[in-house]
Amino acid sequence: MTTHAWGRKGAYRKSSGLDGFLESLRTIVGPSWVLSGDEEVAPFECDALFHLRQRPRAVVLPGNESEVLAVLRFCAEARIAIVPRGAGTSLSGGAMPVAEGIVMSLNRMKRLVIDAAARQAVAGPGVRNVVVSQQAAPHGLFFAPDPSSQAASTIGGNIAENAGGVHCVKYGLTVNNVVGARVVTGAGELLELGGGSLDQAGLDLLSLMNGSEGLLGLVTEARLRLLPAPKAVRVLLAFFSSVQATCEAVTRIIAAGIMPAGLEVMDQASLQTADGYSPALALRIDAGGALLCELDGELIDIADATCRVSSIFETLGALEVRHADDEAQRYQLWAARKNVLPALLRTARDVYVADCVVPRHALSQVLDKVMHLGRERRIDVVQAFHAGDGNLHSVLRYDSDIPGEEDRAMALADAIMQTALAAGGTVSGEHGIGTEKLHGMCWQFSADELDVFHGIRAVFDPHGILNPGKSIPTLHRCAEFGGMHIRRGELPHADLPRF
Ligand SMILES: Cc1cc2nc3c(=O)[nH]c(=O)nc-3n(C[C@H](O)[C@H](O)[C@H](O)COP(=O)(O)OP(=O)(O)OC[C@H]3O[C@@H](n4cnc5c(N)ncnc54)[C@H](O)[C@@H]3O)c2cc1C
Repeated sequence: MTTHAWGRKGAYRKSSGLDGFLESLRTIVGPSWVLSGDEEVAPFECDALFHLRQRPRAVVLPGNESEVLAVLRFCAEARIAIVPRGAGTSLSGGAMPVAEGIVMSLNRMKRLVIDAAARQAVAGPGVRNVVVSQQAAPHGLFFAPDPSSQAASTIGGNIAENAGGVHCVKYGLTVNNVVGARVVTGAGELLELGGGSLDQAGLDLLSLMNGSEGLLGLVTEARLRLLPAPKAVRVLLAFFSSVQATCEAVTRIIAAGIMPAGLEVMDQASLQTADGYSPALALRIDAGGALLCELDGELIDIADATCRVSSIFETLGALEVRHADDEAQRYQLWAARKNVLPALLRTARDVYVADCVVPRHALSQVLDKVMHLGRERRIDVVQAFHAGDGNLHSVLRYDSDIPGEEDRAMALADAIMQTALAAGGTVSGEHGIGTEKLHGMCWQFSADELDVFHGIRAVFDPHGILNPGKSIPTLHRCAEFGGMHIRRGELPHADLPRF
């Protein structure tokens, strides 16, 4: 290992190659918490975007903030890249290692304190999302952001990706539910952002941290907003003959001023997948689409909203409407929905999730176009998505062993991104840009806008050691990708729809 490959200056140069570098890390975090053997680092070579892989030089697992700070300062001095990692459930290659860099797993930092009086929780970055609501439940409180990966994904990863979920249509994304954070920047500074209240003086750096994909700093602690658990909850499950009618129900519910706590659309293929996972629910797999609509609040409000939603369903010719009032029934319904993707990941040879956002009113048209593009490219597309947020998750099933099929799937994913942009949407929803969608950033943003992103990044991480090569493409990369800036609402290709 040459000094050149690993860095040019400081502590590392003084050490003796890779061994010396690892020894220094072991001195900081303890010998058990630096993994460097091939078998030890293999589990970290990808995140949930399985087809992109890179083995890291080492994985370091600090146990507290001081160790995070010390590792970061050491790596900054030696110019060693750090890829932060939570549970590694990112679907965009955000947690994928970079060549010659290390992975910093923050999973050991699991301290969680529920401050019921303040309706807040103080969580280490390695706390799993679902644990916050579980621990808050005895106090009558819950943490609203609930990604489908919530059983595994961590608060650090949720903040870095600004994760969304079923209940974000009413309660907002992660950014709306974090009131403070401690962050170690790439410059080796410790910042305390926010202060526990909803508004703060100065520039809103806390919001900037949400969705920054590990490029600006390492989240070492977060103060989360907890909400009072609603008095009552009802889930309506309506089956329709087509997915278009299902999407139309979403548009009409929102237009009627009703504010559901969750609005999820499933098409026929995802109903079939969910049925395979939960046969006891006897889902209508003959239906073209289904809408899960959760209503919460006071009983009287739920009764009123149920009448209004039911009348919308009736007007649209719903095949069947079911109500789930007790917790066990609701849990089963949501589990069926949340397990569509894991079930597809288990059963299909290869799966790719094309995550993007479109204006809610355009959902049905965009869906039509996406299904048409899928047929054209002979790729199977399954739809199960957070319709209330306009967050489309087209799941592409393909078999990379069949020559040409992966290329067709990736071309389809690009066409879906461009369709979303043409409809006035964005190239990524809640899954981030990571490694996967750098070229999409070149389509969505102008050179000036990308320059501003780079400038902001340089303030936090002057040496560019945090998650380099992710999320913000350089202009050079955009030129390599061969595409620059499609103005939203403009047609990138002649065959795309105009909205
Ligand atoms: C089956 C499945 C369902 C999913 N459903 C949803 C969903 O409904 N909604 C949704 O939003 N996402 C969803 N995701 C995507 C993913 O779970 C989320 O993006 C999640 O927030 C990632 O958390 P993680 O702990 O796994 O982070 P990782 O995957 O480990 O990392 C994600 C990003 O965060 C950075 N990072 C991690 N920890 C830190 C830290 N402490 N400080 C700074 N940066 C950090 C990483 O470098 C990386 O860029 C799903 C994924 C799967 C596999």
